[in-house]
Amino acid sequence: MSANPTKSTVGDNLFAGSPTYQMAKTQLEAVAKVMDTPPDVIERLATPKRSLIVNIPIRMENGEIHCFIGYRVQHSLTSGPSKGGLRYAPHVDLGEVAALAMWMSWKCGIMNLPFSGAKGGIACDPAKMSRGELERLTRRYTEEVLPIIGPRVDVMAPDLGTDEQTMAWIMDTYSMKVGHAAPEIVTGKPIELGGCLGRREATGRGVVCCIVEAITELNLSPQETTAVVQGFGNVGSVVAQELAIRGIKVIAVGDRYGSIRNPRGIDIPALLRHVAAGKMVKDFQEAEVIPDADLLTTPCTILVPSAMERVINRDNAPKLKCRILAEGANGPTTPEADDILNNNGVFIIPDILCNAGGVTASYFEWVQDLQQYFWNEHQVNEKLRELMTSAYHRVRALSLRRQIPMRLAALSIGVEKVANEKIRRGLFP
Ligand code: NAD
Repeated sequence: MSANPTKSTVGDNLFAGSPTYQMAKTQLEAVAKVMDTPPDVIERLATPKRSLIVNIPIRMENGEIHCFIGYRVQHSLTSGPSKGGLRYAPHVDLGEVAALAMWMSWKCGIMNLPFSGAKGGIACDPAKMSRGELERLTRRYTEEVLPIIGPRVDVMAPDLGTDEQTMAWIMDTYSMKVGHAAPEIVTGKPIELGGCLGRREATGRGVVCCIVEAITELNLSPQETTAVVQGFGNVGSVVAQELAIRGIKVIAVGDRYGSIRNPRGIDIPALLRHVAAGKMVKDFQEAEVIPDADLLTTPCTILVPSAMERVINRDNAPKLKCRILAEGANGPTTPEADDILNNNGVFIIPDILCNAGGVTASYFEWVQDLQQYFWNEHQVNEKLRELMTSAYHRVRALSLRRQIPMRLAALSIGVEKVANEKIRRGLFP
């Protein structure tokens, strides 16, 4: 192995300054040190295959024209169509999207899905935009990235700040362009447009599947177990709900507007009704408001970050008081924090395994759309549970056999799958 397995400076130049991309690259370097993969293959994996930046002008409600910057990054096209979410958030930049695309490649590798990794994003604040502005933004973005997407090329899905309605607009825009309904262009779309039953809940259910395996292994009983969930969107709200169903007490929850705590356990169905009525998590009556900084450090058995990347860092990692860290979000833990938590004996279920239920159900959706043959929710949930459980045990077995942390084991499996495919295919021309 070369001393510097990811010596390419192309990616460094393009994505310099992005701490999230640096995180993804540091992880790849760590994997390269424990694997026999040729350095030139690792180098190819260190930089995304394609990155497109688009300027998206749209008319705002006040009549003015505003330009937004959008990105689509395809980390690899080796293993099948690239696959990955589209996020709308103010902080989105090229490096963040590139890192997320790389993680998608490893995630698809761990789950043995015939996809490569991709990610997209638009730097905007969806909470401050009208429905009409969001629709125009989504349609124009789709138009701008049209040359590099397609059901056999690159398939999008919801992520931070986007949902099934966003996917419906993409599906409609693409379908109008190609002249026929093309549901297989996106996943995570509404059921009536060819969506998959259980897809919306799949990421959260997959997270809880991994948690159940971990608490069984650690001999913890659900009734004595407490959980803290950061983020109450698609992933976090389902995680909270599924934990509560299993008798695990969710004692604190937070989102971007505030955090709440109730040591006796938050009534999650009541909180879901409260939020569905358009109210804020922090205004839920049967819990006390706590400072946001206290959410992640609340003593608990299971901590589930389900919001943003890099929320667990070298400053707060030493203060975490959880037994299990189940990463619902992508990249919530910086490499420095990872070392601290490993040294403190925290059982980490890494993001690329823990939240892989979303892309797994997306795969089910894509397959159903291509075949025009639809499964019932029981079939989706059972298959999801089977694949998540088996991936968990594959990662755990490697971690125990090689005496390496779960994250390194998960990355090794994901990177190795993609690397082997690259080696088998050879180099064109
Ligand atoms: P979402 O937009 O539905 O929800 C995000 C939640 O995070 C919201 O409750 C929001 O208020 C909260 N949040 C945002 N900024 C915050 C902050 N600074 N502090 C605390 N909370 C904050 O998004 P989502 O789809 O649930 O995605 C959440 C995470 O899970 C992201 O990292 C995403 O990449 C990852 N993920 C999502 C899926 C999926 O299927 N949706 C799949 C895999 C991974």
